[in-house]
Amino acid sequence: MSEFTFNINEIGDECKELSWPIQAAWVESELAGSDLRPDRAAGPGLFELRVQRTGSELLLQGHAAAHLLLPCVRCLEDAPFAVSVDLVGLVKTEGSVGGSPDEIDDAELGRDVLEGDVVRLDGWLREHIVLECPMRHVCGDDCNGLEVPAHIRPPDDFGEEREGVDPRLAPLLELKDKVLPNKE
Ligand SMILES: [Zn+2]
Repeated sequence: MSEFTFNINEIGDECKELSWPIQAAWVESELAGSDLRPDRAAGPGLFELRVQRTGSELLLQGHAAAHLLLPCVRCLEDAPFAVSVDLVGLVKTEGSVGGSPDEIDDAELGRDVLEGDVVRLDGWLREHIVLECPMRHVCGDDCNGLEVPAHIRPPDDFGEEREGVDPRLAPLLELKDKVLPNKE
């Protein structure tokens, strides 16, 4: 499924502005296999792109914003994350595209974005979204993590001193009373 495509013949000498909604279905299929999922309640995102021809190259300057859900690393619940990312790239439309891989500029999108006269940006966009999402997302500062089930939860007074004596020392005190009877 390619949603973010344009034909290079649409690009004249003037800068062209394009924009597409980033639909939940696209996020779902493109990011399948990752922890990222669309936040359907928040609605579609937006991918905006300026395309400018510079000789045999197209300069792409874009911005993408989308509402995602990431698992919280503490409680594992879905936590909303608004991704917002800038994208810059070059597409060579003719000439010695590709060549040796080390000649390809960082910003240069590989040959794979171009199919005939059509530029397909889905993979490029997906990569930027994935890289922009945090590895460790927390749903909120007040997240207490996973709730411990009642049957394995320590008692509420766990760790508190009982009658001034550390409960861990209570058996020793009992022993002391037996071995050393109070002489007073
Ligand atoms: Zn959480």
